[in-house]
Amino acid sequence: MDFTWTPEQNELRERARKVAEGGVERYGRWNDCWMNGYSKEFSKELAAEAFIGMSWPKEFGGGGRPAIDRLIVAEEMIKVGAPIAATWFADRQMGPALIQYGTQEQADRYLPEMLAGDVTWCIGMSEPNAGSDLASLSTKAERDGKHFVINGQKIWTSFGAEANYCYLICRTSSDGPPHAGISEVIVPMDSPGITIRKIDDMTTNEHFCEVWYDNVRVPVDNMVGAEGA
Ligand SMILES: Cc1cc2nc3c(=O)[nH]c(=O)nc-3n(C[C@H](O)[C@H](O)[C@H](O)COP(=O)(O)OP(=O)(O)OC[C@H]3O[C@@H](n4cnc5c(N)ncnc54)[C@H](O)[C@@H]3O)c2cc1C
Repeated sequence: MDFTWTPEQNELRERARKVAEGGVERYGRWNDCWMNGYSKEFSKELAAEAFIGMSWPKEFGGGGRPAIDRLIVAEEMIKVGAPIAATWFADRQMGPALIQYGTQEQADRYLPEMLAGDVTWCIGMSEPNAGSDLASLSTKAERDGKHFVINGQKIWTSFGAEANYCYLICRTSSDGPPHAGISEVIVPMDSPGITIRKIDDMTTNEHFCEVWYDNVRVPVDNMVGAEGA
C-alpha cells in the first residue's frame, strides 16, 4: 500500500491550511473547534471552498471525493482551531443520513442549504434518563393525522439554541423491546412548543442545551427512514 500523499492531496492540504488560518485570524481560535468554534460567517467560507459535503455523492450536490480528502481538510481545520462547528453535524451526520435514508423530497429540501453553509443542525438524542442506554429514551412522537405531536425532554443538545433543525430521536411506539419503536424525525427549532435552556459548563463550553418539546407538531413527512427502524 502506498502511503505517500498525491500532489493533489498536498495541494488540497495547503489550500485547507490557508482557509483554516484565515478563519482563525478573522473569527478566533477554539479548542475542540468542531464542537466549540461556532461561526456562521466561516461556514459560508467553507461552503465557498466546497469544503462542506466533500464526500457526498455528486448527484446530491456533494463533491464526490474520497473520505480521505475530507479528513485532510478536517485535520487542517482542527489543527489550528478554526471555527467549523456551525456546519459540522450537518456535513458529517445529517447530510449523509438524509442521502442514505431520506426521501428525494427531504434531500431536495435540506441538502442545498447544508451545502451552502446556511444552516445549523443539532442532534436530539440524550435525555436526563437516557444516555449510553439510549433505548430507554422516552420522548414521544404520537401521530395525529398527518402530523406527529412530540413531547419530552432532551439534554446535552449541542447548539440547540443556534440550530435551525433538530435531528430528533424519539419513540413512536412502546410495543416490543425498548430498542424497537424508535424513529428519527426532523424538527424545525422554531416550532411552537420548544423551550431551550443553555447549560453552563465548567469547561466553559457554550454549546450544550436542554430542550423541552411540549406538544410540538411536525408533519409525518419529516420522519427519516422507516418508522421504528
Ligand atoms: C462533547 C459532547 C457533545 C455532545 N453532544 C450531544 C448532542 O449534540 N446531542 C445529544 O443528544 N447528546 C450529546 N452528547 C451527550 C452524549 O451523547 C452523552 O454524554 C452520552 O449519551 C452518555 O450519556 P450520559 O452522559 O447520560 O452518561 P451515562 O450513560 O449515564 O454514563 C455515565 C458513565 O457510566 C458508564 N456506563 C453507562 N452504562 C454502563 C454500563 N451498562 N456498564 C458500565 N458502565 C456504564 C459510562 O461509560 C459513563 O462512564 C454530547 C456529549 C459530549 C461529551
